[in-house]
Amino acid sequence: MRSRFLKLFVIPVLILCLLTGCVELEGSTTESTGGFTPPSGKATTEEVAESTEETTLPETEIESETDVTEESDSSKLELSVSLSETEDTSMETEAAEATETSQSEETLPETENTSETEPEPSESPRPEKQGFEVHFIDVGQGDSSLVICDGEVMLIDGGSTSKSSVVYTYLKKNHITSIKYFVATHPDEDHIGGLAAALQSTCVDRAFSPVLEYDSDPFAAMVKYLKKQGKELELPEVGAELALGSATVTILAPMESFEENNNNSIVIRVQYGNTSFLFTGDAEYEEEESLLSSGATLESTVLKIAHHGSEYSTSKKFLKKVNPSVAIISCGSENTYGFPTQSVLDRLQNRGVDVYRTDLQGDIVVYSDGESITVETAKETEEDIFLAPALIVETTEEESETESTTTASNDSDSSGSGEINEDNCDYIANTNTYKFHRPYCKSVKQMKEKNKLYFVGDRQDLIDRGYVPCKNCDP
Ligand SMILES: [Zn+2]
Ligand SMILES: [Zn+2]
Repeated sequence: MRSRFLKLFVIPVLILCLLTGCVELEGSTTESTGGFTPPSGKATTEEVAESTEETTLPETEIESETDVTEESDSSKLELSVSLSETEDTSMETEAAEATETSQSEETLPETENTSETEPEPSESPRPEKQGFEVHFIDVGQGDSSLVICDGEVMLIDGGSTSKSSVVYTYLKKNHITSIKYFVATHPDEDHIGGLAAALQSTCVDRAFSPVLEYDSDPFAAMVKYLKKQGKELELPEVGAELALGSATVTILAPMESFEENNNNSIVIRVQYGNTSFLFTGDAEYEEEESLLSSGATLESTVLKIAHHGSEYSTSKKFLKKVNPSVAIISCGSENTYGFPTQSVLDRLQNRGVDVYRTDLQGDIVVYSDGESITVETAKETEEDIFLAPALIVETTEEESETESTTTASNDSDSSGSGEINEDNCDYIANTNTYKFHRPYCKSVKQMKEKNKLYFVGDRQDLIDRGYVPCKNCDP
């Protein structure tokens, strides 16, 4: 039945695709160095998705006895299609919609048994001669990194919920259908919000998170879609070494349990030949200290700067130990936190580190041939990389409304909409921990000023944005 399906359908489709040039086989690798080129030809997203699904079938069959049922494939396809049709609206609604169209999820987990032999990279216009690449996806204020080695994929974080379609589209464009390691570094919304969307078009082999439970909608959505694939979150085992193609992924942290989510970030080091990459999540000084005292190898060619360039991360000592040649900062342009901070940029400049920023240069891709790295950015910038953005003090009301749809003001930009403060707001939310409180709650006093979000509006709006009510003041 499978081979008949192959003969009657897949092979003709393959031939057709080869003729029209929308699929490339391993042998016919392109020299292109841009990882962003959408598939050529007039095919629509849906058509491309279809051909992707189908062309993977022949090889999966050869490599595995697992019976990938047509039913599971088509339900996966339905998920994808219904998502891409409505990309602009909230991903969560789409996800819910998508659930309804899916019929048989039971067989999905089996499909990713084949993930290790998944021929995905051969289908995308990637520079095959360089076996290793890391994409720092521009998800605005958030983090999302995609590591690809010899066709195997690790996704570290997925940006915020509002950027779900960015990650979803990026994976699609790059023909990623299976993820060997799916990493939620910590449950903050700007890291895991988009992960539920990433699960719509990919099969995951192993999923890691520093916590198995967390009280937020984005976390629940992520867990829900993992479950649909028959996957559970795993706690990372510090010291574990995992193979990603010919690269080695080492889990370095979290080693201790700190109060702040950021300090419990999963920290990962990837070694490819003589080049190495350190992914630090949102680790702050405390976690950096514990990494330093662990004795683990931290030296890395490329450092993903922790916490979007916050001044509470990337200490001088830590930077000295890692000794990177290149640093990547993932943050949103005109973010209200003032990320990246001047102090971190100064520390990097003083050490002569080459810095790349998603807020100025968009998506950033680092290629490695095992000896040296090359960096490509989606766009060039005229701005001074080592100059921190001015704090958004003069945010106009219009701007702040398009950004948040509700009246909210960060402490740092309070002079722009100065009428909202501790005394007249309905709730105070912590943009770091994603908890929200009544203004009089004791926890508010312990909050860092820059993490405070004075919020006027309905509590449900905060919950929809991923915030969790405080258990003490019960707002
Ligand atoms: Zn965080
Ligand atoms: Zn973050």
